[in-house]
Amino acid sequence: MESKNYEVIIIGGSFAGLSAALALGRAKRNILVIDNNNSCNKQAPKAHNFLTWDNSQPHEVLSEGKKDVMNYPTVEFKNGTASDAKKNSGGFEVILETGERFNTKKLLFATGVSDLMPEIKGLQSCWGISVLHCPYCHGYEVKEKKTAVFADGINALDICMVLKQWTNEIVLLTNGKSILKKRHEERLRSHDIEIIEKEISGLEQKEGNITKVFFKDNSQLEIPVMYAKLEFKQHCDIPEKLGCKMTKHGFIKIDESKKTTVHGIYAAGDNTSKGRTISLAVAAGTVAGMMINGELSSESF
Ligand SMILES: Cc1cc2nc3c(=O)[nH]c(=O)nc-3n(C[C@H](O)[C@H](O)[C@H](O)COP(=O)(O)OP(=O)(O)OC[C@H]3O[C@@H](n4cnc5c(N)ncnc54)[C@H](O)[C@@H]3O)c2cc1C
Repeated sequence: MESKNYEVIIIGGSFAGLSAALALGRAKRNILVIDNNNSCNKQAPKAHNFLTWDNSQPHEVLSEGKKDVMNYPTVEFKNGTASDAKKNSGGFEVILETGERFNTKKLLFATGVSDLMPEIKGLQSCWGISVLHCPYCHGYEVKEKKTAVFADGINALDICMVLKQWTNEIVLLTNGKSILKKRHEERLRSHDIEIIEKEISGLEQKEGNITKVFFKDNSQLEIPVMYAKLEFKQHCDIPEKLGCKMTKHGFIKIDESKKTTVHGIYAAGDNTSKGRTISLAVAAGTVAGMMINGELSSESF
């Protein structure tokens, strides 16, 4: 079966990918967006700190964004998972899990990252609801509440320092012996931040709303909200397979035009940056869309 040809394929059709698709659709480029509907904030009931969409439902922002993009007749959208991609003479061939194949001159990865949940019962159910990743996104809604911070080391100090703007009642949970430096511990304690170094066995929660933390020594802590600093991995391993260099922090390496280290491949959004907010992902997608159009224009001029 012959593969269909596009000028650009965007893998990932969430905030960054749709934003790039808008710029490219408006530039009359023939593009295909491939998405498997698994944005990292899917479980969060509300999104905040995104101008004109503050306190909105993430899926609503995305479905309105998709409507904007689909107004442009050169844009196609495919629900599905890209499982592989290969270089070919015209650019790249993208292969879907279904076995479908598509050719493209340029490739954009707007594939985001996956948060890695430690094996703590109840944590996954609370993620984005009462266990939060960022106070700028959700801090106002839980301000002044007693708040647990699940983190350790310098990350713990950084989060607690910033969180003091939202609440004075902070308890740091290091889930075992802390790796905090003595001077950092003293600094935290001088701001009345209790440090609990006990191992956590699980969370009590109802519909994602945390009520208690259980420790392995059978003690417990009542708490209505928690911030967690989690590890992450790239949501999609195709960029690495195609030879794109990664940074030491696990992001796809890009330049200011969102170009990766492989010619013809771009990346934008959470997969390239620790600044995890919708507005930054949208901005990155716009830049990528404009830069890809610029490169295609210069190649055919
Ligand atoms: C729990 C939580 C709550 C958040 N709340 C807020 C908030 O209130 N306000 C705010 O500004 N920010 C918030 N954020 C951050 C925000 O969600 C991210 O910055 C934003 O989603 C990044 O957009 P993105 O397009 O880069 O990646 P994502 O939104 O993660 O989208 C990546 C897309 O790529 C798709 N994909 C990946 N691999 C493939 C593949 N191989 N084939 C097909 N599709 C693929 C995924 O299905 C997904 O749709 C939150 C984050 C989390 C984790």
